[in-house]
Amino acid sequence: MLADGDLFKVLLDNLYDGVYAIDTDRRIVFWNRAAERLTGYSADEVIGKPCREQVLMHVDDRGNNLCDIRMCPASKAMSAHQSAEEELYLHHKDGYRIPVISRITPLRGADGAVIGAIEVFSDNSSALRARQTIDELRKLALLDPLTHLGNRRYADTIMRARFDELQRYGWPFGVMFIDLDHFKEINDRHGHDAGDQVLKMVATTLSHSVRYLDTITRWGGEEFVAIIGNIYKAELLQTIAEKCRRLVEQSSLESGTDTIRVSVSIGASLALPGDTPETLLKRADQLLYQSKETGRNRVSVMLEDSPHPETIPGR
Ligand code: GH3
Ligand code: MG
Ligand code: MG
Repeated sequence: MLADGDLFKVLLDNLYDGVYAIDTDRRIVFWNRAAERLTGYSADEVIGKPCREQVLMHVDDRGNNLCDIRMCPASKAMSAHQSAEEELYLHHKDGYRIPVISRITPLRGADGAVIGAIEVFSDNSSALRARQTIDELRKLALLDPLTHLGNRRYADTIMRARFDELQRYGWPFGVMFIDLDHFKEINDRHGHDAGDQVLKMVATTLSHSVRYLDTITRWGGEEFVAIIGNIYKAELLQTIAEKCRRLVEQSSLESGTDTIRVSVSIGASLALPGDTPETLLKRADQLLYQSKETGRNRVSVMLEDSPHPETIPGR
């Protein structure tokens, strides 16, 4: 039969979570086996030592040292008489940091006075990994993996944001529908991989043809949609579209002994009163069709200005 003290030690040593206790001077008075496993320090090495001295050295996720008495989660729990839960990083004996979820509870003596605190900590790496995976997936859901441009879903999001700004603040914008000419022939002649390289080349050329705040997206296949902000003159949209067309025309890619060149047809329009994302894109698509019909490698623009010029600082 175990004595009470031994029984509690056995119980605590068999917990999966790390557990340690400190007195009011923040000296470690108890250290279970999981704490040894998680931190690399044995009970003999830490018992009787202040927890802030080279042992745990808690930092938060911004790297702030929490061992300062004003920041120390255990001191705060003891003075506020309240439990606290935090995500932080402990120091491992081998020097690296371990992400943990820590729960700290003040310990009270028989008379109710605080006599220390107990901290239970569990490995948080899998939670962190799960969160990183979610961020990654969110990014992937909006990113075209081939060109690294935003995808169609991203284009929809940006377009909705621009329509919102147009309605709220009168900030006009325009779109360009861009389609590669005779791209099927490029695939047929040079192979699908070379076709992919051409798509990447065009994506990069287009991104370099517009300002930082304008957005080029891959709408799908060999089609791109550009969303051009802060623009109220259709002629200016035409100039930007012409610049894109010309820069693509002048880009080329070496494939074996061949030099691959490609051109684009473009349809462009400013957002006009009464437009929705659907009507605006449909108009740009019809203008693109016109560019195709009249010979390709050309730009067709709806030459109607936006009615909101006064609110714009100018381009
Ligand atoms: P047009 O001038 O009328 O636009 O002719 P086109 O050949 O460009 O148009 P079409 O719609 O007939 O063919 C588009 C081609 O784009 C067919 C398809 O295989 C190719 N394509 C779509 N997505 C990709 C891709 O991710 N990589 C490659 N290599 N080819 C793609
Ligand atoms: Mg197409
Ligand atoms: Mg095409």
